[in-house]
Amino acid sequence: MNDLKILIYRNPLFAKCPDCKTPGSLHRSRARNAYEQIIKKFTFFNMYRCRECGWRGMRSTLVFTLASLKSIFIYLIIGGAVALIVRFILTKFIIK
Ligand SMILES: [Zn+2]
Repeated sequence: MNDLKILIYRNPLFAKCPDCKTPGSLHRSRARNAYEQIIKKFTFFNMYRCRECGWRGMRSTLVFTLASLKSIFIYLIIGGAVALIVRFILTKFIIK
């Protein structure tokens, strides 16, 4: 069984700029207001700015992929199976 990570860490510094598509042009930008500071503190988002075109915005350091959906699905199946087993044991041996 391979990795069952739901969120994958990805450094936006190596990502393409969403505006001009230049790879590796993003750098961290300081939070300008309270709203941005809150986002920065409590989420996985950070402010970034593009060196090439001046684009500025939020990028997440954690990404959700198709493999993430698969992991969630597997976890749900495991959770469901455990719930069934527990119910079975409870009804069979404990509740009479
Ligand atoms: Zn750009």
